[in-house]
Amino acid sequence: MLKPRGAICNLDCRYCFFLSKERLYPNSTFRMSDALLEAYTRQYIAAQRVPEVTFAWQGGEPTLMGLDFFRRAVELQKQYAKPGMTIHNALQTNATTLDDAWCEFFRANNFLLGVSLDGPRDLHDAYRVDKGGAPTFDRVMRGIELLKQHRVEFNILTTVHAANAPHPLDAYRFFRDEVGTQFIQFIPIVERDNATGFQEGDQVTARSVTGKQYGDFLIAVFDEWVRRDVGRVFVQIFDVALGVWSGEPAALCIFTETCGDALAMEHNGDLFACDHFVEPRFKLGNLGETPLIEIVASPQQRQFGRDKRDTLPWYCRECSVRFICNGGCPKDRILKTPDGEPGLNYLCAGFKTFFTHIDQPMQTMARLLDEQRPPADIMLVLARQEVELERAFKTAGRNDPCPCGSGKKFKQCHGSKK
Ligand code: SF4
Ligand code: SF4
Repeated sequence: MLKPRGAICNLDCRYCFFLSKERLYPNSTFRMSDALLEAYTRQYIAAQRVPEVTFAWQGGEPTLMGLDFFRRAVELQKQYAKPGMTIHNALQTNATTLDDAWCEFFRANNFLLGVSLDGPRDLHDAYRVDKGGAPTFDRVMRGIELLKQHRVEFNILTTVHAANAPHPLDAYRFFRDEVGTQFIQFIPIVERDNATGFQEGDQVTARSVTGKQYGDFLIAVFDEWVRRDVGRVFVQIFDVALGVWSGEPAALCIFTETCGDALAMEHNGDLFACDHFVEPRFKLGNLGETPLIEIVASPQQRQFGRDKRDTLPWYCRECSVRFICNGGCPKDRILKTPDGEPGLNYLCAGFKTFFTHIDQPMQTMARLLDEQRPPADIMLVLARQEVELERAFKTAGRNDPCPCGSGKKFKQCHGSKK
């Protein structure tokens, strides 16, 4: 992940974990040099053993580098590409700086944009404000309109936090029906409450989502999605889960057993273990001094990745959804287990209820895939089940087993209704 402008951003989102990284580089210009861009491009491409390569641009706000920087980046990618290699670019933006020239460039070079949008106006503006504290919703929507006009591919990245967590369907339906996006990511905000901005301490801010809220949010969206949107809206965590239920490894680092393949490079070539660990004790080296491939393969980084598995508490090792959860991201492991072992994920309650809730439908979709049928057929399966269930409720006698599956008699479950 490349951060050509470091932590510099035109917005001041209240929960941003990266703005404070500016303090790591006092007096810096926060601009990646041409020499560093070239060295990175050459080394990154040379290190690949696969025919498709993705450059991931992040911030702060990467578009603050200006368009000429990205024109040059693409030129260098073409210069160093191996024969037959396809190069992709993914850029995460708040979309407020976009204009026709940016969009023409993105379209011409097949950039995939990730746009940060937290929901309809009130939910978005709760924390996503500019440097003067002013709301940003209208500016983001204007950027999205431009992307649509120019047919630039984009997905929506939504952080789930204290303000929007109670409104899952307002957010989801807004993205689906009004923004018209097909691809959505829901990222939980777990923001440490400390003065350093580092991953330390066990307190979180009031802006953070709770584990229960996050689980409830995902369940509400899933229940709507699985009944009407499978195959036409793609929610990252649902896709990742279906992959795992189908026997594939998780396609998202937070749910893999080990991690450590997602390094972050600052504007000056400093490399860190992960975007969430841009702090001195996780600095691995500098691209100007050590080749990229050596830094990626360094014992320190490999250990970082293995620690995700090796520090997992027993409570997680014995958990029924460990096969998909794997304890979540180490940055969020700030709780103690019921028996007092440290290292339990702050979002555990949400992960557990969500992954348990989706088990049956995921099994059904995995089976459909296995039979070479589209997972979207689950919508027919569920519709039929619901019709049958409704019929069973209508015909059940007071002393019959309740069709809801509780194991009780109907009159004990719904006594007053019959
Ligand atoms: S620390 Fe978390 S975000 Fe970073 S690579 Fe590991 S699992 Fe992914
Ligand atoms: S759901 Fe909780 S206990 Fe289970 S693996 Fe995830 S974090 Fe651990």
